[in-house]
Amino acid sequence: MIDLKTLTIKKAHEALIKGDFSAVELAETYLEEIAKKNKELNAYLEVYDDVLEQAAEADKKLQNFPTSKPARTDQSPLGEGGLSNLVGIPLAVKDNILIKGRRAGSASKILENYIASYDATVIAKLKEAGAVFLGRTNMDEFAMGSSTENSAYGATKNPHDPSRVPGGSSGGSATAVASDMALAALGSDTGGSIRQPASFCGVVGLKPTYGAVSRYGLMAMASSLDQIGPIAKTVEDAAIIFNCVKVRDSMDSTSTEVKIQKSKVKSLVVGVPRAFTESQGVDKEVLANFNQSLATLKKLGHQIQDISLPTVGYALAAYYIIMPAEASANLARFDGVKYGFHKAGENLLEDYRLSRGAGFGREVRRRIILGTHVLSSGYYDAYYNKAVNAREVITADFARVFETVDVVATPTTPTPAFKLGDKSSDPLAMYLGDIFTVSANIASLPAISVPSGFAAVAGRQLPLGLQFMAPAGGEATLFAIGRAFGGQ
Ligand code: GLN
Repeated sequence: MIDLKTLTIKKAHEALIKGDFSAVELAETYLEEIAKKNKELNAYLEVYDDVLEQAAEADKKLQNFPTSKPARTDQSPLGEGGLSNLVGIPLAVKDNILIKGRRAGSASKILENYIASYDATVIAKLKEAGAVFLGRTNMDEFAMGSSTENSAYGATKNPHDPSRVPGGSSGGSATAVASDMALAALGSDTGGSIRQPASFCGVVGLKPTYGAVSRYGLMAMASSLDQIGPIAKTVEDAAIIFNCVKVRDSMDSTSTEVKIQKSKVKSLVVGVPRAFTESQGVDKEVLANFNQSLATLKKLGHQIQDISLPTVGYALAAYYIIMPAEASANLARFDGVKYGFHKAGENLLEDYRLSRGAGFGREVRRRIILGTHVLSSGYYDAYYNKAVNAREVITADFARVFETVDVVATPTTPTPAFKLGDKSSDPLAMYLGDIFTVSANIASLPAISVPSGFAAVAGRQLPLGLQFMAPAGGEATLFAIGRAFGGQ
């Protein structure tokens, strides 16, 4: 019996090398768990039918590995002897990341029959490393949302309380990892979609520095904000995946050689923007938990320093202008002609109208309208240009703060997971939930959410998360403080 509850990538790798179990046995155990739980939780939109074949391939690689020494887990994806620590590791992949020959649809009806014609760069890297793909996970349509309720295929449920949302938009990936239906997963984060569901589900989520991970093969939502990143059970596991997928890629012109700075482990200076964390309608339990986390960090030898980020409060407004603007342009390609879904009208314009009207869900249509509005000639300067200027000021604010602190800490979300349906008819309330996460995307910074404990709500223990943000290339610092804090 493989104990999935306590399993991590690191432990699984060691066990695979030693021959305690095979990649096929590991994959079978996950498939059994999925068979038991997915019906209720709806984390996967599809479980692949060749998982065991993929695992058998991984077993071949493992058998050819000469020594019983585990590969290094803290460095390159290709560990000692050329064996990656991801060989045979079962992963889940968000439905907006392309795997050649497999369906991918961003949980949208408009892409219901779309088959990817190439591998996303992250997938190519993971394939090279020998990872096993279990299936594609549910999400808010085109990654627009914070609850995974905006899926054309029904909502995903939070494994800690199935009457609540798992967060979003990578809610399927977070639920899969938190309920032992995958050892780790890929998500995408444009304004918090990795960190927020990680926080709601009690797992670790990393949004890398903008440009560190290629967006080639990620369905674009807002190109200047999107990043693919890992959702995992431990910080170390998240680091293993990040190290594997991080690459400067000529297929993505915004990908850069992000130099990951070495980190000191002890005595980091943790900046806390108090005025921000305490003024945003943050739940009492969340604030209490946050203060407790700061006390823990102090005990661990880190220094807590109050900082002021006077413009960070504008990040949410800037985000909800820039993001729809870019999304409205990116989604123009879905016209009912180029990709699967088509509804015929009297003429071409009617075709577009009908196909887009019926193919996109409400939230996507709302954002396209918002985006085209803020980009329209009469409003461009009033909205879009202002938001872009605000973005520069916010970025400069962070740069100033990082002259004196190593990381900035905030709660990941202002509340624990909310009830399904609670915010779906109130988009503004939903958007406000992104208050702490969007600024890292706006300023292109890396940020991690690590589990920080639980809030007791209506007789349930709901997970909470602590977010750390670092300067560009500061992933090693995030991993160091995240591990020290308890995210292993
Ligand atoms: N919740 C945010 C939104 O709805 C973030 C989404 C994301 O990061 N993909 O836009």
